Amino acid sequence: MFKIPIRPRSLFGKLMLSHLLVVALSFLVIGFYLTYLIENYFFSAREWELTSQAQDAAYLISEDLKENDMEAVKKTAETLAYSMNAKIRVLDEKRVSRYTFDPDANTNGMNNEQDELVGLEEREIDHLFKGNMLTKKVYGPVLQRLLVAAPVIDEAGNPANGEDNHEEPMIIGAVTLSVPLRGVEETIAHISRLIFYSGAVGVVIAVVFAFSLSKTLTSPLQKINRAALDMAAGNFQSKIKEESDDEIGGLIKTFNYSAEQVEKYLEEQKRLEMLRRNLVANVSHELKAPLSSVRGFSELMLDGYIEEADKEKYLQMILDNSVHLSRLVDDLLTLSHLESGQLSLEKKEISVEALVRWSFESVAPRGEAQGVNLNLDVESSLPALQGDRHRLHEVLVNLLENAVQYTAEGGEVSLKVSCRNSQVIMEVKDTGRGIPADELPLIFERFYKVDKSRRRNGQGSGLGLAIARQLVELHGGSIEVESKEGEGSVFRVFLPL
Ligand code: ADP
Repeated sequence: MFKIPIRPRSLFGKLMLSHLLVVALSFLVIGFYLTYLIENYFFSAREWELTSQAQDAAYLISEDLKENDMEAVKKTAETLAYSMNAKIRVLDEKRVSRYTFDPDANTNGMNNEQDELVGLEEREIDHLFKGNMLTKKVYGPVLQRLLVAAPVIDEAGNPANGEDNHEEPMIIGAVTLSVPLRGVEETIAHISRLIFYSGAVGVVIAVVFAFSLSKTLTSPLQKINRAALDMAAGNFQSKIKEESDDEIGGLIKTFNYSAEQVEKYLEEQKRLEMLRRNLVANVSHELKAPLSSVRGFSELMLDGYIEEADKEKYLQMILDNSVHLSRLVDDLLTLSHLESGQLSLEKKEISVEALVRWSFESVAPRGEAQGVNLNLDVESSLPALQGDRHRLHEVLVNLLENAVQYTAEGGEVSLKVSCRNSQVIMEVKDTGRGIPADELPLIFERFYKVDKSRRRNGQGSGLGLAIARQLVELHGGSIEVESKEGEGSVFRVFLPL
């Protein structure tokens, strides 16, 4: 296979080499083609001219040759040779060269042996003496020559009546004219020089083009390289500016996009890692308090430190903590199922009013016990909803319980349900302590509690709202909160019909 001996390493080198190859090849092809055309043209023109001159010469010497007046032949031939500037040779009817004259040379004169019929073969002479013209190129010692031969015909000896015994026209000799093809070679040499110089200019242009092209190609590639190295070192900020719409512009676009995706992915991984670490810490923290209470009270009782009268109170506390622990474990399981996508809803057509009343009544006793006024306001003829009634009940109960929990005695909690823009809106409003504005965006995070130090009878783990939001989103809905510290909060659940 064809192999390039030197393999350039740089883009510039490669472009240079290919440009040079194209330039060189183009000039070679053009050169050969032009040479061929010019040679052909010159040759045809010269051939045409020389043919008619040879015919004239044959005619002019025919009379003297017939008479065998060699002096006269010589004179005519010499004059013709000078006027036509061609080497002339006269052959007699026996096909013997009788006279040669070359105006360019010194050795002229009557025929001598070594100069015999140079350039014509036997069959060519046969052809000539049958009355035909002949043209050929001969390769002289220095230059190529064009040789044209014409038969000398004796017209008088060839009578018009067909009765004559001459079967062929009466050929009494031949004249050859030959000229060097000097002009052609000079022109070709001139053109070759021209092509060579244009080639040199072409090479310079090719180098300039290769250089500027390699610059436009390599500078964005170098930028991509630098940015990729930055990326490998963990810096995703270096964005590359795209300056063109071509493939390199496309590459830069793709590179920037990939860098963004990798950055997002890494951030997500970091966030998940943080969450995982926090989860372990939070879970341990949440389990610690109720477990140590259960353990502490049990030990006190076993050691006989608790009086008979107080035993029931302590047992109740152990029970409360156990209930809290099992709720916590339930919540964690639900959350883990939600996050791993394992929790599937049992969607059915459910009556919104029935769902709302059920949830409201589940919380009502607690509200009463805490001295909080509970109101229910359900819009009449609400449409049915596709959903999981147990999960939606869980969401509503969580919101209502929170509202009751964070509202002081004498406060108010209301549940208002309406339908607008093919959405069911459930609004849980309280006149409780509210949530500080800077903490509002965080309350849906798992384990997030506004008042971390507050002890709430083992209640609350910070998982309720996280679960509620995921459940609502699983139904294709959303949840939002509005709150003012000291005035109260409103939680709104939007569910699509
Ligand atoms: P918890 O089980 O601790 O109530 P949630 O996820 O339900 O956990 O709530 C997260 C935090 O949001 C709570 O600790 C509380 O500080 C705050 N919060 C939730 N609902 C209300 C409300 N209605 N009023 C005031 N604060 C609230």
